[in-house]
Amino acid sequence: MTKQASIEVLICGAGAAGLTLAIDLARRGVAIRLIDKLAAPFAGSRGKGIQPRSLEVLEDLGVVDRLAAVGAPYPVQRLHKADGTHADSQEIMVAPPTADEPFRTPLMVPQFRTEAVLRERLAELGGAVEYGRELTGFAQDAEGVTATIKGPDGVETIRCRYLVGGDGGRSFVRHALDIGFPDKTLGVRAVVADLVLDGLTRDAWHRCGEGDMDRQIGFCPLPHTDLFQLQAPIPLEGDFDLSLAALQAFVDARWTAGRVTIKRVDWASAYSMNARLADRYRVGRVLLMGDAAHIHPPTGGQGLNTSLQDAYNLGWKLAAVLQGAPDALLDTYEEERRPIAAGMLGLATGLLDKAKQGEMKRGREVHQMDLGYRFSSLSPDVVRPEDALQPGDRAPDGRLAGAAGGSKRVFDLLAGPHWTLLARGAAVLPAARPGLRAYRVGAGGALRDPDDVLGQTYGLGDGETVLIRPDGYVATFVGGADGARLERYLADVGLIPARSQTRAA
Ligand SMILES: Cc1cc2nc3c(=O)[nH]c(=O)nc-3n(C[C@H](O)[C@H](O)[C@H](O)COP(=O)(O)OP(=O)(O)OC[C@H]3O[C@@H](n4cnc5c(N)ncnc54)[C@H](O)[C@@H]3O)c2cc1C
Repeated sequence: MTKQASIEVLICGAGAAGLTLAIDLARRGVAIRLIDKLAAPFAGSRGKGIQPRSLEVLEDLGVVDRLAAVGAPYPVQRLHKADGTHADSQEIMVAPPTADEPFRTPLMVPQFRTEAVLRERLAELGGAVEYGRELTGFAQDAEGVTATIKGPDGVETIRCRYLVGGDGGRSFVRHALDIGFPDKTLGVRAVVADLVLDGLTRDAWHRCGEGDMDRQIGFCPLPHTDLFQLQAPIPLEGDFDLSLAALQAFVDARWTAGRVTIKRVDWASAYSMNARLADRYRVGRVLLMGDAAHIHPPTGGQGLNTSLQDAYNLGWKLAAVLQGAPDALLDTYEEERRPIAAGMLGLATGLLDKAKQGEMKRGREVHQMDLGYRFSSLSPDVVRPEDALQPGDRAPDGRLAGAAGGSKRVFDLLAGPHWTLLARGAAVLPAARPGLRAYRVGAGGALRDPDDVLGQTYGLGDGETVLIRPDGYVATFVGGADGARLERYLADVGLIPARSQTRAA
């Protein structure tokens, strides 16, 4: 059966990356299909750390409060010692919010809950995951991609403009494109399992055997469930039995701080840790994202976060190109996200080495707040003081006020699929156009700046403007006499005035 329905993007894989891309495209009005070969949602807790930058992304997607409601801050780490004593410590950096950084502490949410919240958001936007459908082949030509999908009703052939592989570490899409995925085996194998058990309190992440790979074991209580996530290194070779009885024997051999009795095993997996990065993220009309493009060890909680932010970087570019922006915009996805993944591989691998020694402290480096795209071709060189915000940096939050009264956060202005332009004082606003929201801030403008956010945080002088991308990174800064440069930038990303529109005041 061939369906010629007007699907613009087929997303293969409904993990964190696939769901995020589906939400972002659906809210932009792009016609999508999101398929997954699983018969039902994946039930394991896996990636349970949501980093502050991802929380900002999830706020824009409309789900951060729902996630906070099903999650919790990380519990303290309780290190049980051989002599029966224990010591508590806070290994995760906890910091109060500031005006420019509303989320400064990672949130713990089991991955099955995060994905459930994302599915709910997708449903609000009219989308849904099609489970039980496996991508088994595809071919591309100049106009689109023809994909073969095996499903409950047989084999279906669909036509789409783009195919995105968010199909996990063993990605069918990556293999089919014959994209290299060089392997760096890290010499660590681990078990992870979601358990209902007796014998541990739920107020701490319990660990013992730190610094000894043959004895290490940890049990983390998963918020708003009766589950603990077990994690422990296991021997590199041989079968590892994941049955309840075998896991009980494994725990009994390692856990020295009193009896732990496993009552139920909801999910368990034994896996080898790898650091791998795809050689390419794009071949024509087919793109890779998430674990399909990079896999990391779980140390530092980076995999899910990097995957979700791949999708967030890709979504607006794909939608813009579908709506007529130059195809070169899509090349900036790999240009921007591949170096970020390479950095993450280094970070997670370094943290794994520390974890082997028993060092579990995690600082701001895992929050992903200081990552950006200064190196990107979308971040033009502009003359700025060295310590000021630069093109490619994350756009900070801040408190403004509406001319009509009431406070407005910068993030309120950025929320949604559009570009945002903030002009300080007497700056000339560009002509209004679809996809751009421009605000004058200061006397005579729609917004006031009582805290001098644009001056102090954004480093804008009077008469200067800052253009912010749909994914919340600074595109460029423009001085008063530089309107032509701004127009060229806007045209390059597909932001062109509609013919009937007139110049805004
Ligand atoms: C023990 C452990 C702890 C972790 N801890 C963290 C953490 O704290 N923080 C963090 O950020 N990350 C963590 N991670 C990593 C995180 O789980 C992954 O990075 C994340 O799941 C990647 O999301 P994804 O959407 O790219 O891929 P996946 O979640 O793997 O989803 C891919 C989907 O594609 C589907 N699929 C595959 N092939 C096909 C096909 N041919 N057709 C249709 N569908 C297909 C699969 O069924 C699957 O549902 C952890 C991982 C593990 C194992």
